[in-house]
Amino acid sequence: MSPIAAPRRAYVETYGCQMNISDGELMEGILEEGGYTIVGAPEDADVVLVNTCAVREHAETRVLGRVAQLNGLKRERPDVIIGVTGCMAQRMGETLLERAPYVDMVVGPDGYRGLPDALARLEEGGRRAPGAVARRAPGTVARPVTGSVARRRGRQLAVLDLSLGENYQGLEQRRADGPSAWVPIQRGCDHRCTFCIVPYVRGPEKNRSAKDVLAEVRSLAAGGVSEVTLLGQTVNSYVWEDVSFPDLVRDVARVDGIRRVRFTSPHPNDVSERLVEVMAEEPAVCEHLHLPAQSGNDRTLRRMLRRYTVEALLRKVELVRAAIPDIALSTDIIVAFPGETDEEFRDTLDLMRTVRFDEAYTYKYSAREGTPATRLPERDFVEPRVAQARLEELIEVSRAIQGEINASEVGRTEEVLIEKVARDPGQLLGRTRRNKVVVFDGRAERVGAYARVVLERTTGATFAGVEAALTAVAAGS
Ligand code: SF4
Repeated sequence: MSPIAAPRRAYVETYGCQMNISDGELMEGILEEGGYTIVGAPEDADVVLVNTCAVREHAETRVLGRVAQLNGLKRERPDVIIGVTGCMAQRMGETLLERAPYVDMVVGPDGYRGLPDALARLEEGGRRAPGAVARRAPGTVARPVTGSVARRRGRQLAVLDLSLGENYQGLEQRRADGPSAWVPIQRGCDHRCTFCIVPYVRGPEKNRSAKDVLAEVRSLAAGGVSEVTLLGQTVNSYVWEDVSFPDLVRDVARVDGIRRVRFTSPHPNDVSERLVEVMAEEPAVCEHLHLPAQSGNDRTLRRMLRRYTVEALLRKVELVRAAIPDIALSTDIIVAFPGETDEEFRDTLDLMRTVRFDEAYTYKYSAREGTPATRLPERDFVEPRVAQARLEELIEVSRAIQGEINASEVGRTEEVLIEKVARDPGQLLGRTRRNKVVVFDGRAERVGAYARVVLERTTGATFAGVEAALTAVAAGS
């Protein structure tokens, strides 16, 4: 009897941060290499992977809702395989398989290399009859899927080992065409910030070889990419043999055809004099730095285990601004970390007013099971009503600062990389070197080109502009 044909069309749906989006591209590359065709909708796919985030509870709830919705596909086509990948898969593991029995497999961030094997193993295990539910048998260890251990639960599969070495070296991502590309250079994190789930779901820091990174950037540039963003959880702690992060940034900035280099997310402690020197000296490195402060209070920073003080952070800001006066700074802030007093929260507002960040990503503390902060005494947890009020006040302060900064930039002429067509017909959306979003009139075929745009007005967060002259050049030229 001929075996059931393996599914050959895959769809990857990604939630969460840029690292996850990049992982989504990596999974697509691995699946393509494994013989799958990547399709643009779950309805067209034999394998649907939901690539998830675990950083906030809200994100997980959303994903659980989404996989329940995808179960509808399974009712119509019982052969469809539904997989959950990424940080939430790693965090919940087999519990997720129990809670959502229609999910066929969970694969953590270090198990992607073995995806085609894992899918083949699900196939080998046979397909479920329509309406059948997974057997709740105790898990048994199955033969390892490449580089990872697959644990079988009835007809479900869990690939959850974290690895000390998996950096996905040598694998190709499947990228959408466009002038910009995200290049992961590091996975995992060696820090243990007490609010953060990342080290537990992505394991320790693992860097890619500098040679591999540079080869990828050269190949991207040859294919027409002119802007790259180096990606890592604490990207500037990167080191490979004798190549430090500043060395890598310099080398990437000098690749022919690369006109813009960015990186995210750096840790403030690794914003070194050498890195700032390279940023100032290399014309391709953009005048933008994301500096995640998290809090403006030393006691809170200590309890978050951020390993710097407010004073040290301010010294980094001075260092960068002295070398690159026009630099745009953005940040991440968490309010209502357990134990944060109102006075301590006010210190964060003071930090915002002192530094005057161009942009702030603001969050209420979200307890993540397994992280040290969840073990703080219950009385320390800030009342939701108070947390919400703090968040709203922080947003008001940071938006006001952003609005003032952007209003002062109206009238400037900026180089804009056109990223896509804007929502309104006949308009384009692009980004300046300082990471400011600009919308202006133009034709869709200009996407990927650079334009000189006069910033005419601002909504506070974004700009409306007009092209200075028809001097746009093709991307990569
Ligand atoms: S540096 Fe801290 S916040 Fe950033 S990923 Fe590592 S543990 Fe999480």
